[in-house]
Amino acid sequence: MNRGHYRDFDATELFCPRCKKAVPVRKKLLLILSNGEKYDYRCVFCGTSVGDKMVNQKEGGTIITR
Ligand SMILES: [Zn+2]
Repeated sequence: MNRGHYRDFDATELFCPRCKKAVPVRKKLLLILSNGEKYDYRCVFCGTSVGDKMVNQKEGGTIITR
């Protein structure tokens, strides 16, 4: 497991700790903040949150938090 080291991509697969494999994920907009948007990624099989991503619009960068 290597959290915090996700590549910057949208529709993709992430490792699900519950399924114990890389799984397709659903991207869901969680929050709209003053400085960007926060997305949540959930396993399509079990619904476990497998990561989230902060998109910072002001700086044009992406910060992944978990
Ligand atoms: Zn899963």
